[in-house]
Amino acid sequence: MASTKVKGIVLGGVNIKEKDKLVNLYTLEEGKITVSFKGVRGEKAKLKACKEIFCFGEFVIERSGASNIVTSCEIIDNFFALSKDLEKYYEGCAILDILNKTAFESNPALFIETIKALKSLCYDSATKFYIIDKFLLSFFKLSGYHFLSDKCVSCQARLGQMYFDYDLGALVCPACKRANCDLVTPSAFMAMKILYQTDYEKLPTVKLGGGGEVQAYHILSKNFEWKVGVSIIRII
Ligand SMILES: [Zn+2]
Repeated sequence: MASTKVKGIVLGGVNIKEKDKLVNLYTLEEGKITVSFKGVRGEKAKLKACKEIFCFGEFVIERSGASNIVTSCEIIDNFFALSKDLEKYYEGCAILDILNKTAFESNPALFIETIKALKSLCYDSATKFYIIDKFLLSFFKLSGYHFLSDKCVSCQARLGQMYFDYDLGALVCPACKRANCDLVTPSAFMAMKILYQTDYEKLPTVKLGGGGEVQAYHILSKNFEWKVGVSIIRII
């Protein structure tokens, strides 16, 4: 059997057999992979903490045919404080859900973005929606769908009043607006620009006002749904 070491974070899993668990692991090296833990649901199982959602660590995997069995794990962080704050917990679950529904290939920049977002969510005190909005904006950028621009994507006119066109995944002016569009308020556009440009560790100092971050989340999560075909789990 070949053994591999990967850096990964547990996205979630299902119990199988009497004491085993199948886990989706988002890894730096290989993107999302499915791994199994043997006998890990016993009280004294040495890897029992490593199978839990949000566990970030170095996993040693034995490969045999199609099966990937975790044989050891060194935990780097389990973001335990997230489980003590329901709002943060659900925002964190939404970040993992985005990866669970998309991250089929290795993307080191997205992996690093994920860890930064979870650290900030767990240890800092940013306003609700700031971190998930920033993560989604980065996710689109790293997936080749950056759309933050001062110009209409269709006619290149400078944007005053603007709409988000879900078919194009971009911003358009009133003249180019079609059926599948939502109005982007100035506060939502400002929220997206500021959150995109601000580092995670500086998010607690950002005070947007106007509820722009809530409308931004509505547009960003709807854009995700249009692109991927499934929605992100609810965080509200
Ligand atoms: Zn236009």
